[in-house]
Amino acid sequence: MKRVGFFRSIQFKFVLIYVLLIFLAMQMISAYFSKELEEKLLTNFTTSIKDRVSFVAFTIQEAMEKEDDETSSVEDELQFVLDDFAEADDIEDIRVVDEEKRILASNEDFEGRVTDAQTTRTMLIKKELDTIKVDKKGNRLLVYTYPIISHQEVLGVVHISANVETVYKQINEINEILAKGTGLTIVVTAILWVFLSQTITKPISDMKKHAQAMTKGNFSRKVKVYGNDEIGELAKTFNNLTKRLQEAQATTEGERRKLSSVLSFMTDGVIATDRKGRVILINDPAAEMLDVSRETVLSQPIVTLLGLQERYTFEELLNEQDSVNLDYSTKETPYTLRANFSVIQKETGFVNGLITVLHDITEQEKIDMERREFVANVSHELRTPLTTMRSYLEALAEGAWEDKEIAPHFLDVTQNETERMIRLVNDLLQLSKMDSKDYLVNQEWINFIDFFDQIIDRFEMSKVETITFIRDLPEDKLFVEIDPDKLTQVIDNIISNALKYSPEGGKVTFKVKESESQLMVSISDEGLGIPKDKVEQIFDRFYRVDKARSRQMGGTGLGLAISKEMIIAHGGNIWAESKEGEGTTIFFTLPYVNMQEDEWI
Ligand code: ADP
Repeated sequence: MKRVGFFRSIQFKFVLIYVLLIFLAMQMISAYFSKELEEKLLTNFTTSIKDRVSFVAFTIQEAMEKEDDETSSVEDELQFVLDDFAEADDIEDIRVVDEEKRILASNEDFEGRVTDAQTTRTMLIKKELDTIKVDKKGNRLLVYTYPIISHQEVLGVVHISANVETVYKQINEINEILAKGTGLTIVVTAILWVFLSQTITKPISDMKKHAQAMTKGNFSRKVKVYGNDEIGELAKTFNNLTKRLQEAQATTEGERRKLSSVLSFMTDGVIATDRKGRVILINDPAAEMLDVSRETVLSQPIVTLLGLQERYTFEELLNEQDSVNLDYSTKETPYTLRANFSVIQKETGFVNGLITVLHDITEQEKIDMERREFVANVSHELRTPLTTMRSYLEALAEGAWEDKEIAPHFLDVTQNETERMIRLVNDLLQLSKMDSKDYLVNQEWINFIDFFDQIIDRFEMSKVETITFIRDLPEDKLFVEIDPDKLTQVIDNIISNALKYSPEGGKVTFKVKESESQLMVSISDEGLGIPKDKVEQIFDRFYRVDKARSRQMGGTGLGLAISKEMIIAHGGNIWAESKEGEGTTIFFTLPYVNMQEDEWI
């Protein structure tokens, strides 16, 4: 957080406000005081001049009324009075003029007439006048004119100029003292306020630090309560607020943790959007399902993320009640997700966002498809022999039974088809048993070489003569733990296939190879072989490379599928290698522990 500079701080503002207030107050007081003082001093000065003039005015009047005598003239007498008067420091000049404005006497030896307006005016209105004037030197003078009146007649005017600079000097000195006092008061106030304002700013700055710590998640601090005033109350409220916030934060954090662990431990993918449809949350399973990284999809529109932009707008998704299947299958791998949508809505109906739950239904879809295919296959497999039988039986019923040549053949066909159907139903029953969870193999320890030899012997007796059997079997006894009935069925099926597809004069080779942990059995023929891209599929239920031919040979298309299940149940593996036109080899392995024979005793 930004640090508040001193000049922006409350403390500085407090000091500034107080200094300004005091300055303003002092200025107002000074202005009022000096104005009052100036008026008072000037009035005092003027009054003293006037008193002194009125004191000498009577003497002047007497002198002017008197005629000149032998001993002294009027001018001399007036001159004597004025000289005495002018001895005072503040009198600049004093003169007496007669009614014709001739100077009768002056302390400065002025002679002639005076022409100033104030003297003339005094004569006219017969009243004293005082004004402040500035002389050539810049000094302020009090000019006072006093009429000498006798019997309503103006005899002359006393004109006095008194220097008032001393009064102004006095005022200036007092103003200076006031200014110094103001300055001193401001400095002292400022210093005092720097300390005093701390009582207000300290708790506030404490609260600021506390709030800064809170933004970083530290709720353990408490603000010190300095008193019971408003700031103290604020500090208490602040501490209370901190406690509440801490509790609320703990609750939110707990909820958040719960939610995040629920989301991350869910196997379903969850995506949440804001009200504009932009992704704001995506859990790991969802990111994994969509093969995206969480960082790149945040704020992406949900319709784009799910690849639904051509089918839906966000508003349409909000109204979508049913689940939507998202098919991301490629040619090689099927991949389907199911999306369910739920709108986050306020009570007012205002939409806050959308929650999408993704569920991987690839496996389920595959099972569904397999089940459908299986039912279709079973129905087809059963219908074919039934249709054949019906048509033969119809022919017989319509009179063919009387034909001694055709009838046995027709009956033969129906019998074969019935047998094939029985085989098919038996195979299906066996597969369904193996599909159930409690399918058990009754295993026993058996010397595999003897066991294999006996099965080959059985086939050798019944086979077509032109086909040769070649046995490449180890001399030693190799003991394995197997279910002999089940394994007989597997080997029977592989050998009968080899014989079925072997050409005349072909060889069928039997091999057993022993390794550390397993026996590898192989049965090879020199038949027509299987196309490369179909080799793996021959172990699928109902799969036949050549359907017509297989049926003709009485096959159900389930033999290798059953064999595969059985070998897997024994903990082994089964696969085929084939070259078209050259022959096919079917391999299977069985778990085996390489031990000496005497170890078995
Ligand atoms: P079927 O009852 O049709 O023989 P299987 O499950 O035993 O059913 O075999 C599945 C298909 O695999 C057969 O229809 C056949 O096309 C092919 N097949 C199996 N063994 C051989 C083989 N030795 N040579 C050529 N094709 C074979």
